[in-house]
Amino acid sequence: MLKIAIDSLGELFGKIASAQTLYIPADRPDGEAEYRKYEPGMKLTGRLNTVRSAKDFFFPQTESLVDFKVEGKNIEVIDPRKECEDFVVFGVRACDARSFTILDKVFLADPVDSYYKNRRDHGTIVTMACTRPAETCFCGTFGIDATAPEGDAACFSDGESIFFKANNDKGQRFIDSISSLLEEGDTAKLDEVQSKTREILKKLPLAALSTENFGGDKLNEYFNSDKWGELSESCLGCGTCTFVCPTCQCYDIKDFDTGHGIKRFRCWDSCMYSDFTKMAHGNPRLTQLERFRQRFMHKLVYFPKNNDGEFGCVGCGRCLSKCPISMNIVKVMKALEEK
Ligand code: SF4
Ligand code: SF4
Repeated sequence: MLKIAIDSLGELFGKIASAQTLYIPADRPDGEAEYRKYEPGMKLTGRLNTVRSAKDFFFPQTESLVDFKVEGKNIEVIDPRKECEDFVVFGVRACDARSFTILDKVFLADPVDSYYKNRRDHGTIVTMACTRPAETCFCGTFGIDATAPEGDAACFSDGESIFFKANNDKGQRFIDSISSLLEEGDTAKLDEVQSKTREILKKLPLAALSTENFGGDKLNEYFNSDKWGELSESCLGCGTCTFVCPTCQCYDIKDFDTGHGIKRFRCWDSCMYSDFTKMAHGNPRLTQLERFRQRFMHKLVYFPKNNDGEFGCVGCGRCLSKCPISMNIVKVMKALEEK
């Protein structure tokens, strides 16, 4: 397998960034990690994952959809999109890589969302296999192998070098573009690292969590469960869980009057918000219980029902660590399973 010494990563990033925009997970001053546009000298974070996921590059928090230029009775419709540049998102974890399977099912289904598709076409996802999973990780619940991530190309570290493997043609083109910096490497140590990581994964606190009792056939049983009241009682409706989630994809579309035209944009929304799905006649979900139930029923029942059994969660653990009241999908799954 082709590899590069970890000490030479700066050179590698420089080469990638000379051809296209490169984003890498880097440390923030507060000790958390976030994706940043690569600049010389920037280092790859040592943290397991970023606060916000790689979803942002394909489905940004806000984006302009269309402009309307108004002159008297004439309205000119303007597409504000510029040619999307090629870009690479490096170091995506296995859980977040799977989130694109879920997002693709939403945005690339007919009618195709051309804004999302444009970015998917121009973006290359380079994943990084995990070696030190956290106690909040449960990607294995959804059949994800943290030691063999998806994405266009995957990277594996043995502590001294990074090895590269193409998962598709786009990934192979990426590896070809950096091949002058790579050399053939012995994977014996890498195999050892992977086996050790698999042992850690088996011992994680959530390793036994299963989707066995979830899916499309549980609609009536779980929708009418008496657990929702207790589970949702303390929910603040802050939406943090939806914004850090790599698979949440709800958005709102709004018009902004600039005084000489209209800008139509979309921005992330959250099913946890009291005005979500509000329509002319009112709101079909009047209580936080109903909104809370919607989020988890969507991920655990409705989404798999409509998408060949694919669940709307990848076990990244972000909602476990970020919810201010320590509520999360694992607690919901465990509570619903209790008879
Ligand atoms: S982060 Fe926690 S408190 Fe905030 S909306 Fe989600 S479940 Fe409710
Ligand atoms: S529901 Fe929680 S664990 Fe699942 S993908 Fe979203 S943030 Fe990650």
